[in-house]
Amino acid sequence: MDNKGFNWLNVLLVDDSVAILKFVEKVLIESFGIAHIHCAASASEAMQILRRSKNINLLFLDLNMPNIDGIQLLEQLHKLDYHGYVVIMSGVSTKIISSVEILAKKYSLNYIGTLLKPIHEQDFESIINKIGTSRIKSKNPESLKTYEIVRAIKNNDIEVLYQPQIELSTRDFMGVEALCRMNHPSLGLVSPDRFIDKAEESELIVHITLAVLKKSFNDWHKWYQHGLNIKLSVNASPIALQQPEFADTIFMLLEQFNMPAKNLCIEITEGVLADDHLQELVNLNRLNMRGVELALDDFGQNHSTIERLQKLPLTYLKLDKSYFIENKDSFNQMSLINTCLAIANKLQIRTIAEGVEDAEVMSLVTEMGCDIGQGYYISRPIAAKKIFSWAREWQSLT
Ligand code: C2E
Ligand code: MG
Ligand code: MG
Repeated sequence: MDNKGFNWLNVLLVDDSVAILKFVEKVLIESFGIAHIHCAASASEAMQILRRSKNINLLFLDLNMPNIDGIQLLEQLHKLDYHGYVVIMSGVSTKIISSVEILAKKYSLNYIGTLLKPIHEQDFESIINKIGTSRIKSKNPESLKTYEIVRAIKNNDIEVLYQPQIELSTRDFMGVEALCRMNHPSLGLVSPDRFIDKAEESELIVHITLAVLKKSFNDWHKWYQHGLNIKLSVNASPIALQQPEFADTIFMLLEQFNMPAKNLCIEITEGVLADDHLQELVNLNRLNMRGVELALDDFGQNHSTIERLQKLPLTYLKLDKSYFIENKDSFNQMSLINTCLAIANKLQIRTIAEGVEDAEVMSLVTEMGCDIGQGYYISRPIAAKKIFSWAREWQSLT
């Protein structure tokens, strides 16, 4: 077994059985050459070690322990902002393990596999080898400063890229999602993860939304003039939807760019359904009455009840990309996707699968009856002027 290359790992083993701790430690040392290993016989001991040694980057965690159990420990890891890898060890049924895996993912933990008890030496290789390919997530990319966001808005440095969406049954190019970027003087093109949250704290998001709307309507108009009649989806944060003039601004822009309302889709997040903000509901209903479509983004990230889904006239449900990117082979994941599709079907809401990264997922979502696909397999987000050449190439492939 190739045991080079793992000595940078700093491991914490958590299990209330000393025999298991000893066994796992021995395998990690002898088969993988890992020298830095801490052991904890309880969750509280594990927390102490984690607080003390910030450089632990691989954790083996027993699910069933007295006092706090492994599930509670997962929650605490999330709170501690632990960025390393997580391996679960358990003797409980695979069904419980699947839901714990989903939970680990919800907590944005870098879960790489489960060792089923009784654990055998040969079970380790496939899990440890994932470390080579699965990078440690940087969950919170460093946020930009408020002044950098203000400067970008003032200097017109908010750019928009477009990610194509296709009708899965025909493979026809049907629309694009507008995704913003910031052109930063020293960092180059910066992803929205680094400034949207910050912009939402200070209402700067309203200016960003306006910039994205103007740019994308303008691009849509150019595509249309060149014979491309597609749908444009724009993300709207709750703060933007709370502005009394939001709907009117959109009506004005639709008129200015000669864009039919039915060509526009506004993407909202589950939070909007939960917080019952009157102004948001007024804006969304006014938009919808004029023909603008509404999509619920990132469905499955939080808890949307069927009742809440019925509160708004939604045209689309966008199944969150995490459904298709991680754990896509697990049985529980499949049934979750099926349940979402059945709910959407019942409510006559069309479905969009986000995060279609490969041919396998593309055929899977098509077979499962999803309506629309979006993801790197179809195209990454691209500049407005590249939409034509992408569309030609896509058509030639299908
Ligand atoms: P979102 O609206 O859920 O957008 C989808 C994100 O998933 C995009 O990331 C897109 O690049 C990424 N994605 C698409 N296909 C794949 C795939 O196959 N694999 C993987 N791994 N990722 C894929 P992006 O552009 O970084 O945007 C991140 C988030 O930032 C968006 O998530 C949205 O919540 C927010 N955002 C972007 N533009 C705006 C905007 O103009 N206004 C507001 N309020 N939020 C925005
Ligand atoms: Mg979106
Ligand atoms: Mg999304």
